Amino acid sequence: MEFCCSFCGKRRGDSKDWLLGFEGTKENSVVMKYTITLLGNWDEERAREPNAVYFCSRACQDKYLEKNYGDDTWAA
Ligand SMILES: [Zn+2]
Repeated sequence: MEFCCSFCGKRRGDSKDWLLGFEGTKENSVVMKYTITLLGNWDEERAREPNAVYFCSRACQDKYLEKNYGDDTWAA
């Protein structure tokens, strides 16, 4: 399975230091709100989950959060 950075599109290849996150909706809130949980490292098994997002670097992760979540980040 091939993974590409969710921000810059770079292919993962043999890199080991990628970051993994999971996006989802917070179902209990009044307004459906997109949330993201950052794993802070890479997990080969969990990377196959359908709501997983991939980052080649901390910089791409930060830019992705800024672009998609802005000031309203609900990150953990
Ligand atoms: Zn990237």
